[in-house]
Amino acid sequence: MKTTFSIALDGPSGSGKSTIAKTLSKKLNILYLDTGAMYRATAIKAIKLGIDTFDEAGVKTFIDDIDLQIKYVDGTQRTYLDGEDVSEKIREPHVSMAASNISSLKPVRLKMVEMQRKIAGSMSCVLDGRDIGSYVLPNADYKFYITASVKVRTDRRYLELKEKGHEVDYDELYKEIEQRDYNDRNRDFAPLVQADDAILIDTSDMTVPEVIEAVMNYIK
Ligand code: C5P
Repeated sequence: MKTTFSIALDGPSGSGKSTIAKTLSKKLNILYLDTGAMYRATAIKAIKLGIDTFDEAGVKTFIDDIDLQIKYVDGTQRTYLDGEDVSEKIREPHVSMAASNISSLKPVRLKMVEMQRKIAGSMSCVLDGRDIGSYVLPNADYKFYITASVKVRTDRRYLELKEKGHEVDYDELYKEIEQRDYNDRNRDFAPLVQADDAILIDTSDMTVPEVIEAVMNYIK
């Protein structure tokens, strides 16, 4: 008998997936795996080594042996690269585009997916990402595709970065989100798509509690 269950939350950048995932993880007392953090840490590794984030041959030289660990401290995910806690560093604005670039490389995705499946296979969890319901966990118990307009997503990200004290140009951020959407939707391997059996939720005109309520109504 199956003793664990999984929830897949996919959608474009800034759609509100991580807020929903964190809340679900607390409400249901299950693990939250932020898969974007893994691509972000991989991008930092390439930057550290001076390897271009589009350079597949270069990335191949380190990806199989990458020392990337996900740990949970007081229920919160911490991301470690080469033994260093990079949980804050991965959120720096320049890492977003680098992660978007490196995530288009098949060897990177294969490695990340292998690690994600291992974690999800061992305990009940909610995963957020781009390809969870369509590729990583096609048999997930619940699948949601969370989206919002580019404008709403840019507004959210802009406020979030401002609150953290980053200097951001709104128009540049808008263009970056569009570019990351394009990259995610058009890569050859495991692109961002709504899985056939995923429930679509457009959060553009919804408050966070409304989104949580909508999601919880499906989860029995
Ligand atoms: O979700 P987040 O913005 O932290 O993800 C960083 C980047 O990693 C995204 O722009 C996306 O291209 C990539 N990503 C991915 N597949 C996932 C999670 C993230 O390609 N499952």
